Amino acid sequence: MASLALPGLPAPEQQRHRHDLVSYLETIWNAYFADIPRANTIHIAYCYPWKNRLGLIRLSCDHTVTQIGINTLLQLTQVPEYVLTVTIAHELVHYAHGFGSPLPRRCQHPHANKVVDREMERRTLGGLLCDCNGWIDKYWYPFYDMQRASGWAGLFGSQSIRSTDGAYY
Ligand SMILES: [Zn+2]
Repeated sequence: MASLALPGLPAPEQQRHRHDLVSYLETIWNAYFADIPRANTIHIAYCYPWKNRLGLIRLSCDHTVTQIGINTLLQLTQVPEYVLTVTIAHELVHYAHGFGSPLPRRCQHPHANKVVDREMERRTLGGLLCDCNGWIDKYWYPFYDMQRASGWAGLFGSQSIRSTDGAYY
């Protein structure tokens, strides 16, 4: 029997694929950030269903580990894949700029003068960024409210990153 994914419902294969954030990180790094050195160990995990944050990056006190936390809702296939891609790329721009990473700081403030967006455009991620912003503007809050009302059904594997432990971006 052929298995056809119904529109709007997560396909099991895709859903599983969304679990594998490490392979997303590798793919995005190789495609768009190959010139950026990896100066420490980088962990990436789904973190929390934040209302007003898609991702964060922070550096351990001894600078040996960078943690990238992704909004848990981005594992759901109702969220377009480009939102996950852009979120990871946004955090990698911070890494490249020396925020949440041991690399030298390239600017004083992590988001000053749209420095992240301009870097994304320079790295040919402008189209995806535009799509992502469009989707977020139109659908994020209703989507968030719906997920919260359902008691976060279907979400797996939240890892807490204590936001009190130093700066994050
Ligand atoms: Zn940021």
